[in-house]
Amino acid sequence: MNPDDFTTVLSEVRKFVRERVVPLEAQIDEKDEMPAEIREAAKQMGLFGFALPEEYGGLGLSMYEEVQLMFELGYTTPSLRSMFGTNNGIAGHVLMVGGTEEQKAEWIPRLASGEVTASFALTEAEAGSDPSTLTTRARLEGNEWVINGAKRYITNAPLADVFMTFARTDPDAPRTRGISTFLVPANTPGLTVAPKDHKMGQFGAWTADVFYDEVRVPASALVGGDAGLNRGFSTAMGCIAHGRVHISALCVGMAERLVDESVEYARTREQSGRPIGSFQLVQGLIADSQTDYYVGRATVLEAARNFDSGADTKIGPSCTKYFASEMVWRVADRAVQVHGGAGYMRGVAVERFYRDARLFRIYEGTSQVQQVIIAKALLGDVARA
Ligand SMILES: Cc1cc2nc3c(=O)[nH]c(=O)nc-3n(C[C@H](O)[C@H](O)[C@H](O)COP(=O)(O)OP(=O)(O)OC[C@H]3O[C@@H](n4cnc5c(N)ncnc54)[C@H](O)[C@@H]3O)c2cc1C
Repeated sequence: MNPDDFTTVLSEVRKFVRERVVPLEAQIDEKDEMPAEIREAAKQMGLFGFALPEEYGGLGLSMYEEVQLMFELGYTTPSLRSMFGTNNGIAGHVLMVGGTEEQKAEWIPRLASGEVTASFALTEAEAGSDPSTLTTRARLEGNEWVINGAKRYITNAPLADVFMTFARTDPDAPRTRGISTFLVPANTPGLTVAPKDHKMGQFGAWTADVFYDEVRVPASALVGGDAGLNRGFSTAMGCIAHGRVHISALCVGMAERLVDESVEYARTREQSGRPIGSFQLVQGLIADSQTDYYVGRATVLEAARNFDSGADTKIGPSCTKYFASEMVWRVADRAVQVHGGAGYMRGVAVERFYRDARLFRIYEGTSQVQQVIIAKALLGDVARA
C-alpha cells in the first residue's frame, strides 16, 4: 500500500479503536457479544481483508504494515481482532497460499469484504500442539470427498460461513504428508457446530467444536485442486508462522494499553496522602512494563521485516510469539499489582486484560511449542535424537 494511504488507514483505525471500541469494552465482556455496529464499521474500514491482496478487494498490507495495524487494534479488547482475524489470517491465508485461481476468485473477495466469515479448523481433541496426529478423515467417493471427524476450539465457528477443514486423505503416508485442506460451507449437510465454549476471557470472540458426519463436498472443494492433495499440513504450518507474528503485534498493542492504564492509576490513586506513583517500588513495576513493551515492539517489527524479505519465516516468528505473549502476560500481572485490590475487580480494565492476555501463551502454538521449534531449528538432528 502506498505510504500515505497506509498512514491514513492507521490513523482511522486508531481513532475507531480509541473512540468507539474502548468505551464498549466492558459491555462486550459482560454480554460476550460484539455489537453489530462495530462489525459493520470494521467491514467499511476494510479490516476483514487487511492482509488479503488488493486485486481481491483487500488492503494488501505487508507483514511490516500489518503489525503496525495490530499495534493499534491490540489497544482494545482482542475480540475486535478475532472478528476478522481468521478471514485475514490463518483461514484466508490458506486460500491465498494454497488455493487455485478459481477458489481465490470465488472466496477471497467475499472474505475481504466481510460478506463471509471463515474459520480455520485444524485442532482436534487429541491433536492440539501436534496437529499432525489429527484423525478427521476424508475419503474420495466418485467425484465427492466424504469427511468424518471433529474439531475443537474453532474460533468464529458459531458465525462461520465456511470452514477451512484439515483432514487426513492418505492414512498410510507419514503423518505430516497425508493431510489435505477442504473448503466446507457451514450449511453442508452433516456439519454441525456445538454451542459456543465458555472461555476464561476474550469475551465477544467465540469458539466451538465442529462435527463432520458423512459431510460430502465436491472434488473442487479440495484446496489447491489435485496439486493440493496431501499438502495441507505444510500449507497450514506456513500460515501459522504468519499468524505468530500477527499475534505478537496484538500482544504489543495490549501491553501499551496496560502501561497506559498503570500510569494513569499510579498518577491518581493516593496512599499515605501521596500518589502511589511516587513510591519507587510502584515506579519499578511501571518501568519494567514499559521496558517489556518497548523490547516487544522492536522485536515484532524486526520479525515482520525479516518475514517480508523471506530472511526468516520460522525461527523469528516463534521467537517473537514466545517473547511477546510471555511479555504481555508479565505486563498484565504488573498492571493488576499497580491497581491493588481494584485490579482484582470485575469492571476494571486491567482485570479483563489479565484474563484476555492468558490465551496468547496457548494458541497459535503454546510457549513450549515455540521453544521446541526454536531449539529444533538451531540444533537440527541433535534435538531430534
Ligand atoms: C480460545 C482458543 C481459540 C482457538 N482457536 C483455534 C482455531 O481457530 N483453529 C484451530 O485449529 N485451533 C484453535 N485453537 C486451538 C489451539 O491452537 C490449541 O489449544 C493449542 O495449540 C494447544 O493445544 P491443546 O489445547 O490440545 O494443548 P496440548 O497440546 O494438550 O498441550 C498441553 C500442554 O502440553 C504441552 N506440550 C504439548 N506438546 C509438547 C511438546 N512437544 N513439548 C513440550 N510441551 C508440550 C503444551 O505446551 C501445554 O502446556 C484455539 C484454542 C483456544 C483456547
